[in-house]
Amino acid sequence: MDKIVKSLIDVVGSDYVLWSEADLLVYEYDGSVDRSTPLIVVLPETTEQVSKIVKIARVNALPVVARGAGTGLSGGAVAEHGGVVISMSRMTQILEVNEYDKYAIVQPGVVNLDLSTHVAPLGLYYAPDPSSQRACTIGGNIAENSGGPHCLAYGVTTNHVLGMEVVLADGTITQFGGVERESQGYDLRGITIGSEGTLAIATTIIVRLLRVPETVKTMLAVFEDVETASAAVSGIIGAGIIPSAIEMMDHFCIQAVAGAGYPEGAGAVLLVELDGLEELVEDESREIESICQEFGPLEIRVATDPDEREKLWAGRKGVLGALGRLAPNYYLVDGTIPRTKLVDVLRQINELSESTGYRIANLLHAGDGNLHPSILFDERKPGDTKNVLAIGAEILRICVEAGGVLSGEHGIGLEKQDQMPLMFTDEDMAAMALLKIAFETEDVFNPGKVFPTGAACGDISQARAIARVGPGAYI
Ligand SMILES: Cc1cc2nc3c(=O)[nH]c(=O)nc-3n(C[C@H](O)[C@H](O)[C@H](O)COP(=O)(O)OP(=O)(O)OC[C@H]3O[C@@H](n4cnc5c(N)ncnc54)[C@H](O)[C@@H]3O)c2cc1C
Repeated sequence: MDKIVKSLIDVVGSDYVLWSEADLLVYEYDGSVDRSTPLIVVLPETTEQVSKIVKIARVNALPVVARGAGTGLSGGAVAEHGGVVISMSRMTQILEVNEYDKYAIVQPGVVNLDLSTHVAPLGLYYAPDPSSQRACTIGGNIAENSGGPHCLAYGVTTNHVLGMEVVLADGTITQFGGVERESQGYDLRGITIGSEGTLAIATTIIVRLLRVPETVKTMLAVFEDVETASAAVSGIIGAGIIPSAIEMMDHFCIQAVAGAGYPEGAGAVLLVELDGLEELVEDESREIESICQEFGPLEIRVATDPDEREKLWAGRKGVLGALGRLAPNYYLVDGTIPRTKLVDVLRQINELSESTGYRIANLLHAGDGNLHPSILFDERKPGDTKNVLAIGAEILRICVEAGGVLSGEHGIGLEKQDQMPLMFTDEDMAAMALLKIAFETEDVFNPGKVFPTGAACGDISQARAIARVGPGAYI
């Protein structure tokens, strides 16, 4: 151990290698329920340092887990098998902004919102906007292929990343994609995005920037219940309008953010935002208002200035934090369903809540069918954590059965790996495993994630097991 620590100190300096029990505690969790303490945490500043750290870890047979801000909700940054955590918290430089070709080159530890703030004076912004954007990093966003309220119209992270410099599991430094809009050959950029830190560590990222729209209009439509609000969402999309965001909050969420100005006692609210050219936004907002009217809203409120808009969004952005007012803990589930199934799936979630006795607050990126049911509980009560995990698993089963998927944006990580067979066949997973071993065979990067745990395979290296033994090996 002393020898490993010394080699790492030689790379980054003694201030940036942590291995005392107290220091490591901070790195044992992310936003999920999983916990595990790494052996060592290293805080590099450059790509070359990341490469050297990976080489040291590999020689010493230690797993490597990259870590951004630790806001992940599926356990991706949790060092399940100990080893070395590489924290990106010192790699926070915006290296270049090209306002003409509209891209920025950033280090992976740059906080999502800091990038948009930095380029705002140029009339530009970075579109993917996870609700955690004040804290989460571009590196973490890439690994999870993160979305956000405005990804309905603009697409998720993969649509906004042109290229990246990465370190592979043997320490090699290479480039996937580039500043040009099209790259030739295999799209290794695309494969790496959403791979949850299992294939490569991004050390420099080239992101696309967009021009700040001419006009933004935000409206709040208040409904008696989630059923009518869901029907209004289908009505809007069915009319061929794609707003930049359609968010839905149910009565528990409204109750949690009491004071945010949403009408108390309402069953559901929709927050709808349009942006673009002024004339178009005006036309579409009138159309949306008239569609919402068809579903008998209790109220429709249109923000008239940026302050009012900000206030409407403050409630939405504060929901998760505010759930603490309703219960000591919440377990946030992330599943996506076809929009047309919203009413049916929300009904089933409601029934599940009634039959189990656990309150479930529903927050949705409703426009793209991405559900975030939050199961309220108290982890101090014996059995509560186990129960809510089982309810979460059941919600995901309902989503998949409705033609949806296991994750809209939070990834699989440790949280949903055992539900992968709900969606993927043995052959599907074997193909994924072959991709993993094309990148590396030693299981250095983020082992024990994404693939099902497979008790019969031992506790690690499912990828290699599947590839060696063939389909079914993970069971
Ligand atoms: C209140 C709250 C709201 C949220 N809202 C949203 C939302 O609207 N949309 C959404 O998509 N997510 C949301 N999330 C989830 C989370 O913020 C995102 O998954 C985010 O992208 C994680 O970024 P991070 O920097 O915290 O990464 P971490 O949690 O530190 O890591 C996440 C994964 O990325 C890997 N990783 C980190 N950096 C790198 C790198 N440089 N190279 C390779 N792999 C790397 C890690 O190994 C891990 O697997 C929310 C979370 C919270 C707590």
